[in-house]
Amino acid sequence: MERDWEKEVRRCSTCGKILEGEDYARTSFCSRRCREVDLMKWLNEEYRIREDASDGIPEGGWDEEPD
Ligand SMILES: [Zn+2]
Repeated sequence: MERDWEKEVRRCSTCGKILEGEDYARTSFCSRRCREVDLMKWLNEEYRIREDASDGIPEGGWDEEPD
């Protein structure tokens, strides 16, 4: 039983545009811009997680004393 590769639809990971087979072999994105968008998204997420981890102050802060 052969798989029908022709019917496999590959899409850009950022905008969802359908990719040509050869393009997809090089990258998962339809353009360099989409690749950078995805990279920045990933980096921002990573940065945010690290910031949260190094900063254990709860909402409202520590120095707010109750009456
Ligand atoms: Zn795209």
